[in-house]
Formats: sequence, structure tokens, C-alpha cells
Amino acid sequence: MRAAVFEDIDRPLSVEDITPGEPGPRDVVVRVAASGVCHSDLSVIDGTIPMRKPAILGHEGAGVVEWAGPEVTRVAVGDRVIASFIPACGVCWFCLNNQSNLCVEMATVSRLRRGSRADGTALQPMTGLGTFAESMVSAEMSVVKVETDLPDEYLALIGCGVTTGVGAALNTARVEPGSTVAVVGCGGVGQAVIQGARIAGAARIIAIDPVALKREVALALGATDVIDPADGNGREQVKELTGGLGVDYAFEAIGIPAMITETFDLVRNGGACVIVGVPRADADLTFPSASLLFGEKRILGCLYGSAQVRRDFPRLVRLVEQGQLRLEDMVSRRIQLDDVNDAFAAMRAGEVIRSVIVDEHHH
Ligand SMILES: [Zn+2]
Ligand SMILES: [Zn+2]
Repeated sequence: MRAAVFEDIDRPLSVEDITPGEPGPRDVVVRVAASGVCHSDLSVIDGTIPMRKPAILGHEGAGVVEWAGPEVTRVAVGDRVIASFIPACGVCWFCLNNQSNLCVEMATVSRLRRGSRADGTALQPMTGLGTFAESMVSAEMSVVKVETDLPDEYLALIGCGVTTGVGAALNTARVEPGSTVAVVGCGGVGQAVIQGARIAGAARIIAIDPVALKREVALALGATDVIDPADGNGREQVKELTGGLGVDYAFEAIGIPAMITETFDLVRNGGACVIVGVPRADADLTFPSASLLFGEKRILGCLYGSAQVRRDFPRLVRLVEQGQLRLEDMVSRRIQLDDVNDAFAAMRAGEVIRSVIVDEHHH
């Protein structure tokens, strides 16, 4: 089967024939029907997120179970599933305490090697998934069954960007009706934060992004105001829009330390700054201590939108079905696996919210 292989930092992915891994009794084989190309895949390629090589990238996907091991109980052949880039084992301390986004099995699945290249080299699928492939062998705990008629590409987006962004607003920040929100960085995750804030009933949602296309989409998806940071006075504009206070919740969806500090600066006293973007693993963040103590400003880390995937994936599916969560505007391009490197170029150029790889043979 074909897969997109990461060979080394700053090199294009190699789309090639590989030999799939042998599934175990608690594994499933999933035919990948759609896979979003997420910024975190680019972060592996550019070295921001360290990963053992060679690897099959892709961690935002959905498909159909083609084979299930004899000990698999949660899914069956023919089920539609969304891949969860953090597994939810259901039995560790975190899974039992409503924090399955911190499931201890993450460390296990992300170390697994599955399948090999033509020369015999073992491959590591990203986060135990590797959705840039025709099919994937994954642990049962890494997939969640959903019952819906929604298109594959929508389900794929729920696998990472949508859950991360909507979850950041609904789970991590718990945005309440009437509140004020700023979102810094309006790619796939930022757009999902905007939608989550809208669904939560935020009265003012300020979208901040230098790319005109992203500001346009933000307005279509629920932003009430947009700011181009190139204008140079973003902070003043946010203050003006919030009666001089600053926002209740500001979300940083880029992962650049200096931007996180600026995002923190948009928050009113007593409000919260939510860190959704992924900074370099070795990056330190700087915050003024007086704002933390005397201003009681909070900094909230956010992994996978604090999601409980077995609760939240079906919940997000229902929100899409009911038209409250709109994903059509987030799928900018439908592409083939062979075009995956073009998708990264488009991402770097700010031309897309999301490119989604779809399986043409099943459309
Ligand atoms: Zn992602
Ligand atoms: Zn667990």
C-alpha cells in the first residue's frame, strides 16, 4: 500500500509503496478515507516536533474498519471511525478521571513501529496513526466509532483541528454566554476555536490573523471583528472593542512564544490565556508576574482541546449534523495522497485553512 514517508527534516515526504505492519489481537486495520494536512505534520517536517525517522506522517483522519483483532470489543469490521491522535485506553488514571487527553498510553502508541519500506527499514506511524496512507494499523484505543452520514473529510477534521479548537473553547476555557474572546492565528485550529466560542454564546469574538483569506473565513464562521496585526495596533483595537478591559479569553493558536506573550496581554484582569498552538519543545514562555498575581490572569495549557474523545467525537458529529459547527468553509482543498507536499507549500503560503487528502477510489 502507499504512504507518505518522512525521511528527514526539511525534505519533502516520499510517497511510496510500503509493507503494512502485522496487526496484533487488540489492533484494527482502518482504510483511511480522508486525512487532513495539519500544521503539526509540517512541524515534524521542519523539526519543531521531534520524531524518529523514517515515519508515516498524518494524525488527523477517518475511515472504515477493515479488520479487527480477536480481542477488539469497541469496534467491528465496517464501522466508521475517527482516529484519535491521543489514545483513550479507558482504564488509566487519566481516562478514569475525565482527562483521557492525557492518557498514559500515548507514550506507548507513539513509540510503536509498524510496517516497513521496500529496503526493510521499520516505519514509525505518527502518534500511532500515520493517516497519510491508504490504510493504517492502529491500536483499538486509538479509534472511536461514530454513526453518521457526514462526509469523510468532515470526520477527518474532527480527528485533530476541530476537536482541539472547539474543545479549547468549550472544555479548556469553558467560555460562557456573553463573554469576549480573542483568537490569535486563524488556521484550522483557530477557526475551530472561533466556532466553539460562537456555539458557547460568546458576544464578541475577535479574530487576529495577517492573512486576508483567514480573516474572511473567520467572519463567516462566527467572528464579530477581525484585526490584521500588520496594522500594528492590535492590542489597542482589542482594548477598544472591549470597553478598555481586554478580553475574557484569549487563545493563541500558532505556537510562537512571542505571540503567546502578546496574546496574554490581550486578556483582562481575571481572564484566561489559553495556549493551543504547539511551541518548540525547548521553548520557554515569559509572562509578567504582576499580571498573574495582582491581575489574577490565568494561563491554561490545552492539549487536544481537553477532549474526552469517546464523549466529544460523537458530540461534535451531532453539532455538524445540526449545522451549528460548519466545516465546509474549513476544507479549502480536496487532494490526493500524491499531492501531499503541495499541501504543505499551500499551508506555508497561507493559501488554505485545510487541505484534505481524500481516497478517490471510494468517492
Ligand atoms: Zn493536528
Ligand atoms: Zn488511558
